[in-house]
Amino acid sequence: MTDITYRGRFAPSPTGPLHFGSLIAATASYLEARSQGGEWWLRIEDIDPPREVAGASDAILRTLDAFGFEWDGPVTYQSQRHGYYADALAQLRQAGLAYPCACSRKDIAQASPSGLYPGTCRNGLAPHQTPRAWRLRVPEEIIEFVDKIQGPQRCDPVTEAGDFVLLRADGYVAYQLATGFDDAEQGMTEVVRGADLLDSTPRQRLIQALLGLPSPGYAHHPVAVTAKGEKLSKQTFAPALNQDQASPLLYAALQFLGQAVPPELQHGALPELWAWARENWKLALIPQIHQEVIEIFP
Ligand code: GLU
Repeated sequence: MTDITYRGRFAPSPTGPLHFGSLIAATASYLEARSQGGEWWLRIEDIDPPREVAGASDAILRTLDAFGFEWDGPVTYQSQRHGYYADALAQLRQAGLAYPCACSRKDIAQASPSGLYPGTCRNGLAPHQTPRAWRLRVPEEIIEFVDKIQGPQRCDPVTEAGDFVLLRADGYVAYQLATGFDDAEQGMTEVVRGADLLDSTPRQRLIQALLGLPSPGYAHHPVAVTAKGEKLSKQTFAPALNQDQASPLLYAALQFLGQAVPPELQHGALPELWAWARENWKLALIPQIHQEVIEIFP
Protein backbone atom coordinates (compact mmCIF):
# COMPACT_ATOMS: atom_id res chain seq x y z
CA MET A 1 0.00 0.00 0.00
CA THR A 2 1.27 3.44 -0.83
CA ASP A 3 0.87 6.33 1.52
CA ILE A 4 -1.32 9.01 0.07
CA THR A 5 0.49 12.27 0.38
CA TYR A 6 -1.74 14.16 -2.02
CA ARG A 7 -5.44 13.76 -2.68
CA GLY A 8 -7.27 16.23 -4.87
CA ARG A 9 -10.76 16.35 -6.29
CA PHE A 10 -13.10 17.78 -8.87
CA ALA A 11 -16.54 18.49 -7.47
CA PRO A 12 -19.06 19.48 -10.15
CA SER A 13 -22.70 20.25 -9.42
CA PRO A 14 -25.04 18.43 -11.80
CA THR A 15 -26.86 21.59 -12.81
CA GLY A 16 -26.05 21.08 -16.50
CA PRO A 17 -23.37 19.77 -18.84
CA LEU A 18 -19.70 20.60 -18.34
CA HIS A 19 -18.52 23.72 -20.17
CA PHE A 20 -15.14 25.31 -20.80
CA GLY A 21 -15.05 26.79 -17.27
CA SER A 22 -15.56 23.32 -15.79
CA LEU A 23 -12.83 21.91 -18.04
CA ILE A 24 -10.37 24.43 -16.61
CA ALA A 25 -11.18 23.39 -13.03
CA ALA A 26 -11.06 19.68 -13.88
CA THR A 27 -7.76 20.05 -15.75
CA ALA A 28 -6.03 22.14 -13.08
CA SER A 29 -7.07 19.89 -10.19
CA TYR A 30 -6.25 16.71 -12.17
CA LEU A 31 -2.81 17.75 -13.37
CA GLU A 32 -1.79 19.15 -10.01
CA ALA A 33 -2.77 15.84 -8.35
CA ARG A 34 -0.99 13.74 -10.96
CA SER A 35 2.14 15.90 -10.93
CA GLN A 36 2.37 15.23 -7.18
CA GLY A 37 1.88 11.49 -7.70
CA GLY A 38 -1.45 11.93 -5.95
CA GLU A 39 -5.01 10.72 -6.23
CA TRP A 40 -7.80 12.60 -7.96
CA TRP A 41 -11.35 11.99 -6.81
CA LEU A 42 -14.67 12.92 -8.31
CA ARG A 43 -17.45 14.13 -6.06
CA ILE A 44 -20.83 14.97 -7.54
CA GLU A 45 -22.31 17.82 -5.52
CA ASP A 46 -25.96 16.91 -5.95
CA ILE A 47 -27.37 18.51 -2.83
CA ASP A 48 -29.56 21.06 -4.56
CA PRO A 49 -32.41 19.13 -6.19
CA PRO A 50 -34.25 22.30 -7.29
CA ARG A 51 -31.26 23.24 -9.48
CA GLU A 52 -30.36 19.75 -10.61
CA VAL A 53 -30.84 18.73 -14.24
CA ALA A 54 -31.94 15.14 -14.86
CA GLY A 55 -29.15 13.07 -16.38
CA ALA A 56 -26.47 15.72 -15.78
CA SER A 57 -24.40 13.58 -13.36
CA ASP A 58 -24.03 10.75 -15.85
CA ALA A 59 -23.36 13.18 -18.69
CA ILE A 60 -20.58 14.81 -16.64
CA LEU A 61 -18.91 11.44 -16.00
CA ARG A 62 -19.19 10.47 -19.68
CA THR A 63 -17.67 13.78 -20.77
CA LEU A 64 -14.76 13.53 -18.33
CA ASP A 65 -14.11 10.01 -19.56
CA ALA A 66 -14.24 11.09 -23.21
CA PHE A 67 -11.75 13.88 -22.45
CA GLY A 68 -9.34 11.31 -21.01
CA PHE A 69 -9.60 12.05 -17.28
CA GLU A 70 -8.91 9.04 -15.06
CA TRP A 71 -10.25 9.21 -11.53
CA ASP A 72 -9.40 7.19 -8.45
CA GLY A 73 -11.79 5.21 -6.35
CA PRO A 74 -15.55 5.25 -6.67
CA VAL A 75 -17.31 8.48 -7.57
CA THR A 76 -18.92 9.93 -4.45
CA TYR A 77 -22.28 11.68 -4.39
CA GLN A 78 -23.19 14.24 -1.77
CA SER A 79 -26.82 13.12 -1.99
CA GLN A 80 -25.70 9.88 -0.32
CA ARG A 81 -23.96 11.64 2.55
CA HIS A 82 -26.83 13.39 4.30
CA GLY A 83 -26.25 11.37 7.48
CA TYR A 84 -22.78 12.86 7.77
CA TYR A 85 -24.06 16.41 7.31
CA ALA A 86 -26.79 15.86 9.91
CA ASP A 87 -24.15 14.60 12.38
CA ALA A 88 -21.88 17.56 11.65
CA LEU A 89 -24.76 19.97 12.22
CA ALA A 90 -25.68 18.17 15.45
CA GLN A 91 -22.08 18.51 16.63
CA LEU A 92 -22.14 22.25 15.94
CA ARG A 93 -25.52 22.59 17.67
CA GLN A 94 -24.31 20.75 20.75
CA ALA A 95 -21.32 23.05 20.94
CA GLY A 96 -23.66 26.06 20.77
CA LEU A 97 -22.18 27.01 17.40
CA ALA A 98 -25.35 26.68 15.32
CA TYR A 99 -28.69 28.32 15.89
CA PRO A 100 -32.11 28.33 14.22
CA CYS A 101 -33.13 31.38 12.23
CA ALA A 102 -36.66 32.52 11.46
CA CYS A 103 -35.78 35.33 9.03
CA SER A 104 -37.02 35.39 5.47
CA ARG A 105 -34.88 36.78 2.65
CA LYS A 106 -37.02 39.90 2.79
CA ASP A 107 -36.41 40.34 6.54
CA ILE A 108 -32.66 40.14 5.95
CA ALA A 109 -32.71 42.50 2.96
CA GLN A 110 -34.64 45.06 5.02
CA ALA A 111 -32.38 44.79 8.07
CA SER A 112 -29.07 44.65 6.23
CA PRO A 113 -28.37 46.48 2.97
CA SER A 114 -25.05 44.63 2.65
CA GLY A 115 -26.88 41.31 2.57
CA LEU A 116 -24.74 40.11 5.50
CA TYR A 117 -26.91 38.39 8.07
CA PRO A 118 -27.49 40.96 10.83
CA GLY A 119 -27.61 38.37 13.63
CA THR A 120 -31.33 38.88 14.32
CA CYS A 121 -31.92 35.32 15.65
CA ARG A 122 -28.54 34.89 17.36
CA ASN A 123 -30.04 35.11 20.83
CA GLY A 124 -33.00 32.83 20.24
CA LEU A 125 -36.43 32.89 18.65
CA ALA A 126 -39.58 34.29 20.18
CA PRO A 127 -42.15 31.58 21.05
CA HIS A 128 -44.34 32.36 18.02
CA GLN A 129 -41.46 32.12 15.55
CA THR A 130 -40.76 29.03 13.44
CA PRO A 131 -37.18 28.05 12.66
CA ARG A 132 -36.48 28.16 8.92
CA ALA A 133 -32.74 27.76 8.47
CA TRP A 134 -29.80 26.93 10.73
CA ARG A 135 -26.88 29.33 10.87
CA LEU A 136 -23.31 29.18 12.13
CA ARG A 137 -22.51 31.41 15.09
CA VAL A 138 -19.40 32.88 13.49
CA PRO A 139 -16.62 33.46 16.03
CA GLU A 140 -14.60 36.64 16.35
CA GLU A 141 -11.45 35.22 14.92
CA ILE A 142 -9.49 36.18 11.82
CA ILE A 143 -9.01 33.41 9.29
CA GLU A 144 -5.75 33.41 7.39
CA PHE A 145 -4.29 31.04 4.84
CA VAL A 146 -1.93 31.17 1.89
CA ASP A 147 -3.53 30.29 -1.40
CA LYS A 148 -1.02 28.62 -3.73
CA ILE A 149 -2.07 30.83 -6.65
CA GLN A 150 -3.77 33.88 -5.14
CA GLY A 151 -1.29 34.35 -2.28
CA PRO A 152 -1.96 35.27 1.37
CA GLN A 153 -5.65 35.60 2.31
CA ARG A 154 -7.16 37.17 5.36
CA CYS A 155 -10.83 37.20 6.30
CA ASP A 156 -12.74 38.56 9.25
CA PRO A 157 -15.77 36.25 9.18
CA VAL A 158 -17.85 38.58 11.35
CA THR A 159 -17.72 41.46 8.87
CA GLU A 160 -17.15 39.50 5.66
CA ALA A 161 -19.22 36.34 6.01
CA GLY A 162 -21.69 36.95 8.83
CA ASP A 163 -23.56 34.06 10.44
CA PHE A 164 -23.96 32.02 7.27
CA VAL A 165 -26.45 29.24 6.56
CA LEU A 166 -25.63 25.59 7.34
CA LEU A 167 -29.06 24.11 6.69
CA ARG A 168 -31.30 25.93 4.25
CA ALA A 169 -34.89 26.96 4.88
CA ASP A 170 -36.02 24.38 2.30
CA GLY A 171 -34.36 21.65 4.39
CA TYR A 172 -31.34 21.06 2.13
CA VAL A 173 -27.80 21.21 3.48
CA ALA A 174 -25.91 24.34 2.44
CA TYR A 175 -22.94 24.09 0.07
CA GLN A 176 -20.51 25.49 2.69
CA LEU A 177 -21.26 22.75 5.21
CA ALA A 178 -21.40 19.84 2.75
CA THR A 179 -18.25 20.79 0.86
CA GLY A 180 -16.24 22.01 3.85
CA PHE A 181 -17.09 18.80 5.66
CA ASP A 182 -16.48 16.47 2.71
CA ASP A 183 -13.11 17.93 1.75
CA ALA A 184 -11.88 17.24 5.28
CA GLU A 185 -13.68 13.95 5.93
CA GLN A 186 -12.66 12.50 2.55
CA GLY A 187 -9.03 13.28 3.28
CA MET A 188 -8.42 15.89 0.59
CA THR A 189 -4.99 17.40 1.03
CA GLU A 190 -5.46 20.04 -1.65
CA VAL A 191 -8.43 21.81 -3.18
CA VAL A 192 -7.78 23.29 -6.63
CA ARG A 193 -10.80 25.20 -7.95
CA GLY A 194 -11.93 28.48 -9.51
CA ALA A 195 -11.29 31.78 -7.79
CA ASP A 196 -15.04 32.48 -7.86
CA LEU A 197 -15.05 30.21 -4.79
CA LEU A 198 -12.21 32.00 -3.01
CA ASP A 199 -14.58 33.73 -0.59
CA SER A 200 -16.13 30.38 0.35
CA THR A 201 -12.79 29.08 1.55
CA PRO A 202 -12.63 30.93 4.91
CA ARG A 203 -16.16 29.67 5.64
CA GLN A 204 -15.23 26.10 4.79
CA ARG A 205 -11.98 26.29 6.76
CA LEU A 206 -13.93 27.67 9.70
CA ILE A 207 -16.40 24.76 9.57
CA GLN A 208 -13.49 22.31 9.43
CA ALA A 209 -11.80 23.92 12.42
CA LEU A 210 -15.00 24.03 14.49
CA LEU A 211 -15.65 20.36 13.75
CA GLY A 212 -12.09 19.49 14.76
CA LEU A 213 -11.23 18.34 11.22
CA PRO A 214 -8.04 19.06 9.26
CA SER A 215 -8.14 21.67 6.47
CA PRO A 216 -6.68 20.98 3.04
CA GLY A 217 -4.42 23.44 1.24
CA TYR A 218 -6.04 25.59 -1.43
CA ALA A 219 -5.21 26.88 -4.90
CA HIS A 220 -7.75 29.05 -6.72
CA HIS A 221 -7.18 29.43 -10.44
CA PRO A 222 -8.60 32.33 -12.47
CA VAL A 223 -11.97 31.78 -14.09
CA ALA A 224 -12.95 32.19 -17.70
CA VAL A 225 -15.25 35.15 -18.25
CA THR A 226 -17.35 36.36 -21.16
CA ALA A 227 -16.73 39.65 -22.97
CA LYS A 228 -19.09 41.24 -20.42
CA GLY A 229 -16.89 40.01 -17.57
CA GLU A 230 -19.36 37.38 -16.40
CA LYS A 231 -18.17 33.95 -15.34
CA LEU A 232 -18.81 31.25 -17.92
CA SER A 233 -21.73 29.26 -16.64
CA LYS A 234 -25.04 27.85 -17.67
CA GLN A 235 -26.58 31.25 -16.85
CA THR A 236 -24.21 32.97 -19.31
CA PHE A 237 -24.98 30.30 -21.94
CA ALA A 238 -21.56 28.66 -21.96
CA PRO A 239 -21.80 25.90 -24.56
CA ALA A 240 -21.50 22.27 -23.43
CA LEU A 241 -18.08 20.72 -24.05
CA ASN A 242 -17.98 19.06 -27.46
CA GLN A 243 -16.26 15.68 -27.19
CA ASP A 244 -15.33 15.74 -30.86
CA GLN A 245 -13.15 18.74 -30.08
CA ALA A 246 -11.46 17.32 -27.01
CA SER A 247 -7.89 18.08 -28.10
CA PRO A 248 -8.40 21.72 -29.08
CA LEU A 249 -10.51 22.34 -25.97
CA LEU A 250 -7.98 20.75 -23.64
CA TYR A 251 -5.25 22.67 -25.45
CA ALA A 252 -7.19 25.90 -24.84
CA ALA A 253 -7.67 25.01 -21.16
CA LEU A 254 -3.93 24.41 -20.74
CA GLN A 255 -3.16 27.70 -22.45
CA PHE A 256 -5.67 29.45 -20.23
CA LEU A 257 -3.85 27.96 -17.25
CA GLY A 258 -0.59 29.54 -18.45
CA GLN A 259 1.06 26.33 -19.62
CA ALA A 260 3.48 26.62 -22.58
CA VAL A 261 1.78 23.91 -24.60
CA PRO A 262 3.37 23.35 -28.05
CA PRO A 263 1.01 24.56 -30.83
CA GLU A 264 1.40 21.35 -32.84
CA LEU A 265 -0.49 19.49 -30.10
CA GLN A 266 -3.64 21.56 -30.59
CA HIS A 267 -5.09 19.28 -33.23
CA GLY A 268 -3.13 16.14 -32.39
CA ALA A 269 -4.17 13.01 -30.56
CA LEU A 270 -5.56 13.43 -27.05
CA PRO A 271 -3.12 10.94 -25.40
CA GLU A 272 -0.15 12.96 -26.71
CA LEU A 273 -1.56 16.16 -25.29
CA TRP A 274 -2.14 14.51 -21.90
CA ALA A 275 1.34 13.00 -21.96
CA TRP A 276 2.83 16.45 -22.55
CA ALA A 277 0.60 17.99 -19.87
CA ARG A 278 1.47 15.38 -17.21
CA GLU A 279 5.15 15.81 -17.92
CA ASN A 280 5.22 19.60 -18.06
CA TRP A 281 2.47 20.85 -15.75
CA LYS A 282 3.50 23.74 -13.51
CA LEU A 283 1.09 25.31 -11.04
CA ALA A 284 3.45 28.27 -10.75
CA LEU A 285 2.64 29.29 -14.36
CA ILE A 286 -1.07 29.81 -13.66
CA PRO A 287 -1.91 33.51 -13.80
CA GLN A 288 -3.96 35.14 -11.03
CA ILE A 289 -6.16 37.28 -13.20
CA HIS A 290 -9.43 36.19 -14.79
CA GLN A 291 -9.33 36.09 -18.55
CA GLU A 292 -11.84 36.66 -21.25
CA VAL A 293 -12.55 33.75 -23.52
CA ILE A 294 -14.56 34.40 -26.63
CA GLU A 295 -12.70 32.85 -29.51
CA ILE A 296 -11.77 29.49 -28.12
CA PHE A 297 -14.82 27.42 -28.84
CA PRO A 298 -13.89 25.34 -31.84
N1 GLU B 1 -19.89 22.17 -6.80
C1 GLU B 1 -19.29 23.45 -6.97
C2 GLU B 1 -19.54 23.96 -8.36
O1 GLU B 1 -19.79 23.17 -9.26
C3 GLU B 1 -17.80 23.46 -6.80
C4 GLU B 1 -17.40 23.14 -5.45
C5 GLU B 1 -15.93 23.20 -5.16
O2 GLU B 1 -15.08 22.94 -6.03
O3 GLU B 1 -15.67 23.42 -4.01
O4 GLU B 1 -19.49 25.15 -8.56
